[in-house]
Amino acid sequence: MPARFTSLLVGLALGLSACTRPPPDPAPAGPRMEIDYEAARAMMVDDIVRQHRAQRRQPGMPREISAAVLAALRATPRHEFVPEEQRPFAYADTPLPIGAGQTISQPYIVALMTELAGVRAGANVLEVGTGSGYQAAVLDHLGARVHTIEIIPELARAAAATLARLGHTRVETRIGDGYAGWPEAAPFDAIIVTAAPDETPAPLIAQLAPGGRLVIPVGPEYGVQDLLLITKDAAGAVTTTRVTGVRFVPLTRERD
Ligand code: SAH
Repeated sequence: MPARFTSLLVGLALGLSACTRPPPDPAPAGPRMEIDYEAARAMMVDDIVRQHRAQRRQPGMPREISAAVLAALRATPRHEFVPEEQRPFAYADTPLPIGAGQTISQPYIVALMTELAGVRAGANVLEVGTGSGYQAAVLDHLGARVHTIEIIPELARAAAATLARLGHTRVETRIGDGYAGWPEAAPFDAIIVTAAPDETPAPLIAQLAPGGRLVIPVGPEYGVQDLLLITKDAAGAVTTTRVTGVRFVPLTRERD
C-alpha cells in the first residue's frame, strides 16, 4: 500500500474516533445556570389568567380564576413535584411525566378545577389521584382539610414525602382505589378527581355534602373526556354541568 494512502487511512480513523469520543465533561468551574423559578411561576400564573380570559365565555366556565386560587398557585413550587429532569419545564403550561406512566396535570387545568371546586379555608376536600401531590399542595395553600388518595403505591409514597418535605403536614394521604372515595372522612365540601372514569363513581356523589361540588373528567380512556361540575344542593338534588373537553389518564380500578 503506498505510504500516502496508509497515512490517509490512519488519519481518517483518528478523525472518526475523535468524532465518536464522548463530549468533554461540562465546564467544572463558573456559576451554574440557575433557573429563576419564582419568576417562571409568576409568568405561569399570568399565562393562566390570559388563557382563562379567552375561554371564560364558554358555557359552564367560571367567570374568573379567583385571587385566592391564583395566590395558591403562586405559592406552590411546581418544580418540587416533578422529576429532576423535568424541572426546566415545570412552569410551562403542559402536563409532565411523573413516573409509572402518570402525569402531573397542566397548570391551567389545575387552576380551572380548583376554581370550579369552590374551595374555601376550612373546607373538607377529597382528591382522587394524588399523582405528584401538586394539586393537594395547592388545596392545602387554600386552607382546605385535604384528603388525597392514590392507587399506585410508589407514587403515593413519593407524593407523601414531597408534601412532608414542603411542610404540608395537614394533608392526609392514603394508598387505595379512590373510586370508593374515603368514607371515614366524608362528607366532603369538594371532591376533585384527576383521573378519568367512564362514568361518575356513585360513592363520590354519595360522599358529597349538601352544597358540595364534585369536579371530574368523565369519558373514554385516552380520548377527550368531559370535565364535569356536579353539585349537590341543600336538599340533596344533584345537577351536572359540562365545562370543557380535557384529556386525563384513566381512573383504574383495584381489579385492573
Ligand atoms: N393530581 C395529580 C395528577 C394526577 S395524574 C397531581 O397533581 O400531580 C392521575 C393519578 O390518578 C395517577 O397518579 C394515577 O395513578 C391515579 N389514579 C388512577 N386511578 C386511580 C384510582 N382508582 N384511585 C386513586 N388514584 C388513581
